Order: sequence, then C-alpha cells, then structure tokens
Amino acid sequence: MTFNELGLSEKVLQAVAATGYTSPTPIQAEAIPHALAGRDILGIAQTGTGKTAAFTLPMLSRLEQGRARARMPRTLILEPTRELAAQVEESFARYGANHKLNVALLIGGVSFAEQESKIMRGADVLIATPGRLLDFAERGKLLLTGIDILVIDEADRMLDMGFIPDIEKICKLVPFTRQTLFFSATMPPEITRLTETFLHNPVRIEVARASSTASTITQGLVASVPGPAKRETLRRLIREATSLKNAIIFCNRKRDVAILHKSLQKHGFSAGALHGDMDQRARMTSLDAFKAGDVNLLVCSDVAARGLDIPDVSHVFNFDVPTHAEDYVHRIGRTGRAGRSGVALTIVTHADQKYVDEIEKLIARKIDWVGGTLADLDAEEAAHPSLAETKRARPSRSKRPQAEEETRAATTAERPRSPRARRPGEESRKPVAASGRPRPSRSYDEDDVPVVGLGDHVPMFLLRPVRLKSSKSSPEKSESTENA
Ligand code: AMP
Repeated sequence: MTFNELGLSEKVLQAVAATGYTSPTPIQAEAIPHALAGRDILGIAQTGTGKTAAFTLPMLSRLEQGRARARMPRTLILEPTRELAAQVEESFARYGANHKLNVALLIGGVSFAEQESKIMRGADVLIATPGRLLDFAERGKLLLTGIDILVIDEADRMLDMGFIPDIEKICKLVPFTRQTLFFSATMPPEITRLTETFLHNPVRIEVARASSTASTITQGLVASVPGPAKRETLRRLIREATSLKNAIIFCNRKRDVAILHKSLQKHGFSAGALHGDMDQRARMTSLDAFKAGDVNLLVCSDVAARGLDIPDVSHVFNFDVPTHAEDYVHRIGRTGRAGRSGVALTIVTHADQKYVDEIEKLIARKIDWVGGTLADLDAEEAAHPSLAETKRARPSRSKRPQAEEETRAATTAERPRSPRARRPGEESRKPVAASGRPRPSRSYDEDDVPVVGLGDHVPMFLLRPVRLKSSKSSPEKSESTENA
C-alpha cells in the first residue's frame, strides 16, 4: 500500500514524500481513511508504531478548509507530558510544511503570556497537557466550543499520572459533535469506561500489543548486589559495552535519577538527566543535548521518558528493574527503533527477582543472564566473603565511602536544606518535611519530600557534607574509591 491510496490531500502527500516514508505503517493504513471520513477512532497502539502521523496527517488534510478564530482553537491534542506535546508540535512542523497553520503549544513550565498571544491569534491546532489547558480554560482565556477534532494520546499514561478526571472535564467542555481520535497502548478498565462515555461508535484499530518487544533488541539481565556497588555495575557495563553510541539509563525514582546523574558525571561520563521535577527549560536542554550527541548518556525516570522518539539510541540500561512489567516494554523500546539493532541490559538484585518474573511472563520469553546469575553472584560472594562484605557494608560515618559522599552531595545539591531553631522535644539536626514533621536522617530509600527552609538562598558552607576525621585515612580511602 502507498500513501496515495489513503485519501490524503496533495499538500500532505508532498510533505510525507519529503520525509522519505515509502509506505504507511499498519496504524496509518487503517486509521487515516476513517479519520478523513470523520469517524471516531480507538487506536490501541504504542509509540514507535507511527501513530503520531496516523492522527496528524488526516488532521492536516481536514484543516485545509476553514480558519481559526481568536481564543477558539479548531483542534485539540492532549498529551500526558510536555516532551510528548513538544514532539507532536515537531510532527506538525514536519508534516505541515506546506500548510500555513497556527500551531500553539500549551504546556506547564512555559510563560503564560507567550502561549496566550498564540491562542489570541487563533490556533488551528492546540497541543496541550491537561493541567495547563484547564488553567487557561478556567481563566476564560480559551474557549473549547470551536473544537472539531479532539485527540487524546497515550491515554493509559494519562491514567498512570492521575489525569483522567481532567480529561473527563475537558471532554465535557468540547462540543458533543466533535470527532475524537483516542490512542492508548493498553486498555485497562478505567480507559475502556472513558472510551464508552466519550467516543461515538468508534472504529477500533489494534496494531501491536504492549507486551511485544522488537526482535531488533538484544536483551540481558545482569546480577548485582544492591547499594553503591550497583552504580559500579552500571559503570562497568557502560565501559565494557561494545558499539555503545549512546544510552538511556532508567531509574525507578526521580531522586535516584539525580543521584546517579551526579555520580556518573563525577566518574567522568558525559551524562544528562531527565525527570518530572526538572523545570521545562532544563528538561528540553537535557533532551536536546542528548539528541545532538553533546552528552551520550541520559538518566531518566519513566514519566519523563515515555514515548520520546529519539531515533538512534544504541543502548538502554535499566539501573532499576521496573516494578510495572509494561514499563519494561516501553523502556527498552527506546532502542532498536526503525529496524536498527539495540541492546537493553537490566541490573537485577535479589529483591528484584519477582519483577523480572512478571516481565518475562508479560513478554512471554526468558531473558538471558549476562555474566552469571544471582546464584552465581551468591557463590562468588561465598567464595570471597571479605570482598562481599566490602561491597555490601554500609560503612560507619567516619569511613563513609566516596559513593555515599556522592549521594550526599548530589541530594544536598538538589534540595538544599537549611538549619532552623530546634523546637522543644525535637531531635537535633533532623531534616524537616513540608508537613513540618521531622524526618529521619537521610537514607537511600527516603522519599522525595520538599524541604522547608531557605529555598535557593542557602549559604554554601551549610550545604557542605560533614566529614569526620578518620585516624587511618589512606588505606581506607583507596578502598572506598574502589567501591564508589
Ligand atoms: P510514533 O509512533 O508516532 O512515535 O513514530 C515513531 C517513528 O516512526 C517516528 O520517528 C516517525 O518519524 C517514524 N514513522 C512514522 N511513520 C512512518 C512511516 N510511514 N514510515 C517510516 N517511518 C515512519
């Protein structure tokens, strides 16, 4: 099949030809004719299937008639994250090269004034994250009553992020007669309910189950002990990887993204970071630096990385095993794209075995161990107990190894904390959470809780980690560095 058979306009066909695509992907072939005919669509497809063009191309064709009015966008695309929204905007720029359309982006972390002026000019296409969109609508700066086409993309991710009530509100603000194009990689019950409420007699198109992993990806499990030694395992994997061009490294928690990022930089790696707590400018800067090859490692959380289309990623490392099996499929799908080969290695500790079992069940295959199983690691530790002890031990304060100093420095740098007067009955030197309750002293497992204090204005001397003098420093030092 060719694009010419789908009913797209001449301008759109020319833009598609300029991108070099020779034939439509299955979701494009199935969805585009129905979308052009004005039907609602329920597309069960993950990123990487070409679903963005499946809704962008027919929208462009349909937008050729009519024009936008101030404050009343003609079409609306909802995306769960700012990066995905920005990516869809790029698609409009590429596929809409022959159109003079006004495309506005409404996402958090960007100035209101700039976004408002675009909407005031009249947007043909509004691409938004749900929170910022409702903000605008509730302030009366935006009317959704002129929407002809509504796209809800990555609906299951919206569910994970708690956006479903916002989506329901938005669906009630747009005209009943609009066309809805709805995409989700999976169909949990909440999403099915949403589609039953807001889609009118949709065409259901299912292209690839979220449980399938591309055959172009070589997958492997790597046994490791937990704690700082896990970072050494990762460094070893990066150093030993043959044909590593660049890599995305996933952590389960955003705080760990920041810690690992600092640690890698400290060890001389060229690394950027991407997590949901970073402001929009910092996120875009990191992503652009990675895409441009200015840094070749990107440490990410799931939320920030989901659906990102970076065409040429050679390696994915799961620093943490994802606790939701489907996240594994999405993570490793960042490599091996568009027929290229890729490598995905997952670092596994004993505590992770149950999650590995769930992943293997979902993808219906066993993943090979690289360099020995967890049992082999146990046997090695049993044979060399002193080495194992050094790797695992959480050292006393006076013998804190470099890795922990890094952890402290990284966490301190991210969230500056400040001292304040001790209240009666309160233990001294305990950090204080936003709730005002003292928190236990820092550990690797503490949660991301904002700290009340001097904000960004903490004097540097208060941020410096406390070092206690050790009586015999040199031999310990070299040992600690080894374990960092
Ligand atoms: P998506 O699933 O929309 O994130 O698209 C994944 C990747 O496939 C993007 O890099 C697109 O540029 C690319 N792509 C989309 N449609 C086609 C096509 N018909 N032929 C080749 N590549 C495509």
